[in-house]
Amino acid sequence: TSKVDIIKKHISSYPDFPKKGIIFRDLFSILREPSVFALLKEILINRVKSNFPNVECIAALDSRGFLLGPLIALDLQLPFVPIRKRGKLPGKVISEEYSLEYGKDVFEIQQESITQGEKVLLVDDLLATGGSLRASCKLIEKCEAVVVGCLVVIEIQALKGAEKVDAPLHSIIKY
Ligand code: 5GP
Repeated sequence: TSKVDIIKKHISSYPDFPKKGIIFRDLFSILREPSVFALLKEILINRVKSNFPNVECIAALDSRGFLLGPLIALDLQLPFVPIRKRGKLPGKVISEEYSLEYGKDVFEIQQESITQGEKVLLVDDLLATGGSLRASCKLIEKCEAVVVGCLVVIEIQALKGAEKVDAPLHSIIKY
């Protein structure tokens, strides 16, 4: 078995969560096994090195992205920057609205956290419809920085989120 197969085997799937018809893929089952979590960390870092070698900053999405982004940033000695849901970040923030299945939500980033022209890699656990990463790309552009790519552990291909994201997307596991 390959390293990626081991990761896939350790992702728990929950049918009909959070509602009927959705299969929820859960990354927390990987974190319960230190040796598997270490393997995921190694894969993520290697993928960044080979696919996005010129990245200068790691930004991750609230909240499961926060489990992964700092691992990569610390190893590569790059700054880590959080993108959070509305109202969670202090200081001056830049905002971007995005659509959910019902209604809207807002992502925010601290203005001081990114410099003009900085090359940013966006990290999240899972790509579904692509709405979250699309809004995050716009947020980075509003900061006058550059999205070099998006990295997710899991891509739900049937939802075609990759088409919505305006940057090179790399996923480790596809369903
Ligand atoms: P999107 O905006 O691409 O439709 O949804 C992606 C966001 O929703 C990610 O931040 C992700 O954490 C969350 N999400 C959607 N579906 C799932 C799922 O099956 N499992 C997990 N862990 N997160 C999901």
